Amino acid sequence: MMVLTLYNTLTRKKESFVSLKKSSVGMYCCGPTVYNYAHIGNLRSYIFEDILRRVLEFNKFKVKHVMNITDVGHLTSDADSGEDKMLKGAKREKKTVYEIAEFYTKSFKEDIKRLIILEPTVWCKATDHITDQIELIQTLEKKGFTYLVGGNVYFDTSKLKDYGKLVKLDLEADTQERVEEDKNKKNKHDFVLWFTKSKFQDQGMKWKSPWGEGYPGWHIECSAMSMKYLGKQFDIHCGGIDHIPVHHTNEIAQSESATGTKPWVKYWLHNEFLVLSKGEKMAKSGDNFITLQTLEEKGFHPLDYRYFCLGTHYRKPLMFSWDALESAKNARTRLFDKVLEHKSTVGKVPTKYSTQFMKEINNDLNTPNALAIVWDVFKDKKLKSNDLYATLILFDEVLGLGLKGIKKDKIPQDITKLAKERLQARQNKDWTTSDKLRDEINSLGYDIEDSAEGYTIKKK
Ligand SMILES: [Zn+2]
Repeated sequence: MMVLTLYNTLTRKKESFVSLKKSSVGMYCCGPTVYNYAHIGNLRSYIFEDILRRVLEFNKFKVKHVMNITDVGHLTSDADSGEDKMLKGAKREKKTVYEIAEFYTKSFKEDIKRLIILEPTVWCKATDHITDQIELIQTLEKKGFTYLVGGNVYFDTSKLKDYGKLVKLDLEADTQERVEEDKNKKNKHDFVLWFTKSKFQDQGMKWKSPWGEGYPGWHIECSAMSMKYLGKQFDIHCGGIDHIPVHHTNEIAQSESATGTKPWVKYWLHNEFLVLSKGEKMAKSGDNFITLQTLEEKGFHPLDYRYFCLGTHYRKPLMFSWDALESAKNARTRLFDKVLEHKSTVGKVPTKYSTQFMKEINNDLNTPNALAIVWDVFKDKKLKSNDLYATLILFDEVLGLGLKGIKKDKIPQDITKLAKERLQARQNKDWTTSDKLRDEINSLGYDIEDSAEGYTIKKK
């Protein structure tokens, strides 16, 4: 078995992956806050996590993949300032927060299906786990990690010597400057575990708790639900790099303080952002808000975007432009056409290729190099067609481009009829009629190409 190497944010090093249990892996991924559509920058994270899971499975691990749905408590800043995201969505659409949550959860699940992202083993919703969150806060309270001010329960970061280790925070240098938004906080990095009083008095979601009626802070849900489904210590936790300084840092603080087990999570993996041409980060408002739907409206297939993501390593910023996406679309279409040419039922994968491929994906998920091997395989003239097909299908267990399911476009009868007439005209060297028929076929949405055997028709 080849060694799997992953870059661990906790140590800032590439490490050999060794699972806590012999052949199974527990993996937790921070899911969406369901107050709006996911934009393609968000979706990059889920594609990266899907590749990670598929690589683990390719290495014969059984993966328990847990993903949360945030439907309460997340403010527009990841810390405790800004607007309440769910409330913002509800006001925008004049619906209740529950309606907003249901609608955008459904839309998120549809997006990931269209991107052929494997469904998590466990989906867990924050509002379904309020009791678990309250119990965890009580544990922290009993162990002396909390304080109560102004009706809210805070986590006291000064009680933890290694607070901020994920972000490599220098606590000595990081002096206690005043936090303007919340004067109740004793230390700069303290954060809310439970709100009973906040500036959002119209918060629609409230639950009874030992500290009064209210709702949880954002970070506690991930600690509570990950430990509920994966145990008090597990293998992998992932998300976008924006989670490192606050959200994941606070998750570590909560979980390690509650259980005393360190490290809570062995490997932390984070993906870089999708960036727009002017270096901007994609946001959930304005012109920069591109969804999967936007791409489809512009004539792209969701898998063009998946292919586009695979072309850049997950730890590098991915530069988005329409031209770059167009190139990915062309490559993806060419790949599909080529795979169809070799479609077969039985074939053997040459060891040379399976080894090369595994070497790349096991090197911290090097998908750009893995894709390069795909194209090398087509150049190998000695490779039999059925073996080539088997090789690509094996690679697709990791790439997830749906290569097995590709079908020839069904060409309507009237198009075939026109094509036959055109072939006849060409045989008669009647180029005027032949050109006229081609224009007609094109105007009906199909392309026709002449080949040695006659012609091929494709949907535009
Ligand atoms: Zn989280």
